[in-house]
Parts: sequence; C-alpha cells; structure tokens
Amino acid sequence: MIGTELLLGQIQDTNATYMARALAVAGVNLLWKTTVGDNAGRICEALRLGLGRSDILLCSGGLGPTADDITRECVAEVLDAPLEYHDDLFQVIVERFRHRNRLLSENNKRQAMLPRGAAPIHNPNGTAAGIIAESDRGAVICMPGVPMELRPMLNRVVIPYICWKFNVRRTIQYRVLKVYGMGESRVDAAISDIMNSQANPTVGLLASRDAVRVRIAAAAANTLEAETLIEPLDALIRQRLEGLAERIVQEDATA
Ligand code: ATP
Ligand code: MG
Repeated sequence: MIGTELLLGQIQDTNATYMARALAVAGVNLLWKTTVGDNAGRICEALRLGLGRSDILLCSGGLGPTADDITRECVAEVLDAPLEYHDDLFQVIVERFRHRNRLLSENNKRQAMLPRGAAPIHNPNGTAAGIIAESDRGAVICMPGVPMELRPMLNRVVIPYICWKFNVRRTIQYRVLKVYGMGESRVDAAISDIMNSQANPTVGLLASRDAVRVRIAAAAANTLEAETLIEPLDALIRQRLEGLAERIVQEDATA
C-alpha cells in the first residue's frame, strides 16, 4: 500500500481490506502487507523486501500524474527495467481527456510509461493503466489507489492472472458463529484445544460488542468441499458451548 495519507491516518486503507478479502475468497495466500509513504527510497526498499519473500507483490497507489506518484519509477528501478513510453497507452489517455473536456498536462505522459517488458492493465475508470511486471525474482503488479479503479482491475485481471499463473484451484470459505452471553476468554477456554489442533479448517475468535464471533475457515477445491469440512467443526463447537452460551447463531454471510 503506497501513500503518505495512509501513514498519516488521513484515509482508511480500504484497498488493503478489499484486496485481502478478494484474495482469500480466490484461495490465494496473502502473506504480508506493507504500508509505505510516497518516498522513493522507502518504496524501493519495500519492493526489494517483498520480492525477497513473496512470489507476487500487489501495489496500490502512486500511479497518478502528480509529483508524489512515483510507484512506476520505483518498480522500474527495483526490477532494473527502464521505463518505456507507449503511445497506444497515451492515446487512451488523450481520448479520455477529450471526452471530459479536460486539459492534458505534460505529466500525463508519465502515465503512458511502463517498465520494459511489463504489460498494462486496462483501466476503464481512470487514466492510469495498471502494470504487470514480471521478473525472475517475482512479479510486481501495480494498481491505482482510487478504489473504483482498483477493484475492477483486481477482480477482472489480477486475481485471474494469479490463479492462472500459480494454478490456484482453491477457494477459502468461512462460516461465522455468533456466540451471545459469553466473554471471549470463556469461549476461548471452551474451544482452545479445537482452535490449536486445526490446520484446515482453522478456527479463530473475534470479540465484538454484542457477541463473540467464532470463524471457521476452510480451504478446499470448491464450495461444497469447503462446507463439508466446516460442518463437523460447526457441530463440535456448538456442542462445546451448549449450556454455556445464551444463544449461538450463524452470521449471515451476505450481511
Ligand atoms: P490518481 O491517478 O488518482 O493520483 P494514484 O494511483 O496515484 O491515483 P493515489 O494518488 O495514491 O493513487 O491515491 C488517489 C486516491 O485514492 C487517494 O487520495 C485516496 O482517496 C484513494 N486511495 C489511495 N490509496 C488508498 C487505499 N489504500 N485505500 C483506499 N483509498 C485509497
Ligand atoms: Mg495520485
């Protein structure tokens, strides 16, 4: 996640949450999240660190035309792939500006630059194309920070690309049981052995004001298989909490 406004707490990092959910549902393991400001040295450092520990880095933000938007320059530097101008990308930007009667600045040309060998991701909702830059150290994928622009790119291009590239044929499904009338530590005491012994599904707790949520998350080839893994744990947990909790209800997944 790139943007000084995120470090200052000026805006909520909804892209991080959105990406994490979308990746989990697609069965892609998210291993690290890093937030860094609009500073070239530190963005490069974060990219190098990320490439050292993951196969793919997903970046959000800093693809715009202004001076503090430096993500593409940093990716080019770290991958040692010089930026190259693509006139076809620039023509898309020109067309977009013409359509909206806005004036182009020289800076917009930067948005038509890609690191050598990288592929653009079409952006139907803004000027900056996304970037897929592959290298022998891993792939770096950049998306604009504006959520309206990032989300369709992520869902239509980036996640399908990752699943294709890494042959991901998995889904992660979860069910949440809302336990009323019991504190988190009592729920924990009652089911901690289950939580500690489970690798798939995993069982986790989340306390909130009205209830303690028990999350049962399963990775499987498809939804049905995931449900089949979740079902017996659901029954086991309910059995353990019976008589201790006031009420246990399954949270509506669509809520
Ligand atoms: P632009 O072309 O609009 O400059 P950009 O790719 O350069 O896009 P940023 O300048 O980093 O993106 O962010 C643009 C706006 O997008 C921010 O002002 C903010 O409103 C929103 N934004 C950026 N990052 C995030 C994030 N992680 N979560 C939610 N919103 C974000
Ligand atoms: Mg910007």
